[in-house]
Amino acid sequence: MTLSFSQLQLAEPLARAVAEMGYESMTPIQAQAIPVVLEGRDVMGAAQTGTGKTAAFALPLLQRLLKHENPSTSPARHPVRALVLLPTRELADQVAQQVKLYAKHTKLRSLVVFGGMDMKPQTAELKRGVEVLVATPGRLLDHIEAKNAVLNQVEYVVLDEADRMLDIGFLPDLQRILSYLPKQRTTLLFSATFSPEIKRLASSYLQDPVTIEVSQPNTTASTVEQHFYSVLDDDKRRALRQIVRQRGIGQAFVFVNSKLGCARLARSLEREGLNTIALHGDKSQDERLKALDAFKKGEVDLLVATDVAARGLDIKDVPAVFNFDVPFNAEDYIHRIGRTGRAGASGLAVTFVGPSDARLVGDLEKLLKKKLEIEPVEFDDERPRGRINDGRRAWREAGETGDPRDALDMPPRERDSGREAGREGGARQGDRERRHAAPAAPKDPFFDQPYQAPATEAAPAWEAEAKPARVSANIKPKRKVAALFKSE
Ligand code: AMP
Repeated sequence: MTLSFSQLQLAEPLARAVAEMGYESMTPIQAQAIPVVLEGRDVMGAAQTGTGKTAAFALPLLQRLLKHENPSTSPARHPVRALVLLPTRELADQVAQQVKLYAKHTKLRSLVVFGGMDMKPQTAELKRGVEVLVATPGRLLDHIEAKNAVLNQVEYVVLDEADRMLDIGFLPDLQRILSYLPKQRTTLLFSATFSPEIKRLASSYLQDPVTIEVSQPNTTASTVEQHFYSVLDDDKRRALRQIVRQRGIGQAFVFVNSKLGCARLARSLEREGLNTIALHGDKSQDERLKALDAFKKGEVDLLVATDVAARGLDIKDVPAVFNFDVPFNAEDYIHRIGRTGRAGASGLAVTFVGPSDARLVGDLEKLLKKKLEIEPVEFDDERPRGRINDGRRAWREAGETGDPRDALDMPPRERDSGREAGREGGARQGDRERRHAAPAAPKDPFFDQPYQAPATEAAPAWEAEAKPARVSANIKPKRKVAALFKSE
């Protein structure tokens, strides 16, 4: 049964905002959670990003805060009443943007604080007073310690993506933050899974919660057309360009396994005339937000990303997803292709399988419980094929240790346990990130160049033929790229 928002009796300013967002019926998590939160009960919700859970907690929470709405300019009249904690900057930013939209016709103030950004503007806004504070744990603690944030009037706390916060090691930070909050409050916890750790967290901090579980979005929906192509490493870019051109794909995510691979691929595709942007853990916060924004506005055709950088991004309905590398963790395949074919739209998921990917394909087959049909790529021109990757590239990416996994975009703890997660920036988290950073990449005049934004506006670039390489066909493919740059 679908329920309409009109059945909720939301206050007029909130109902108007919802109508302006174009929402008609509630998603399952909204239909179940909103009435419970409106009653003031604690909630333990199993729901992922993409299910509409932000509105599920934000709307009832704003409705209950309306009694505090006031036009006063005095900061004392705008204490923090609701605190929303999230594991990563991107998630915090996305949730804060949604909260702002839902609250736009009210006088309730909201603010997001996360690491990797200057604390001063955040401090100034905190001091002016905000009712809804969205934050990542590390940066919030910095503000608490600096006495910029006072939390003794918090009535609602939301622990969003709680499983990921625990994965990242935020439990001690969460415990400290929760110790600053009044005992009398409503606590809402959302998590993709109810692991024993999550249950322990819930039993410590939630009172008689209502448990709500909604089925996860079907990420391997039949609406996603999946293809696996056998391609030599040096032919992957060409295969990608050809598929994009032949299928007339407007925008796509291109997933790679390593930070260096990400930067290199984006740069190469850009040079070949595709409007491309790279998103990986080494990008500054500002660069990441700009990249995301440019992609959402359609200014960028290809977003090349590592799993860490893409996790939690609110971009879910791209026409196509390319797995330029078979993911190291088979579960990431599900996350990656879940970006396409959403909400009944048809999507395309293309995976390039290289000669050394047999084990990863085996893992994928185990997870998907089926034998994968790996097709050859029929190139539409006669250019010579690339050579088989002999492992030297992986070694090169491994930096000083010689371990190819060191080029992965994840901290060793998560990497070694086969897990990864997006991470927060900020002073505290920034330190962690630096401690866990992969060894310095070998000095290379190519990789050490700063990222360059697209030089032309021409889009979508694949409609034009890729520029032919201005080098002899006798030069090996790897040399070709270097030669191309030297000539510029
Ligand atoms: P979330 O899971 O909260 O990140 O929401 C995912 C996306 O769904 C966001 O872009 C929301 O704007 C959108 N959304 C949330 N609730 C609804 C709804 N009831 N109808 C349509 N779209 C929605």
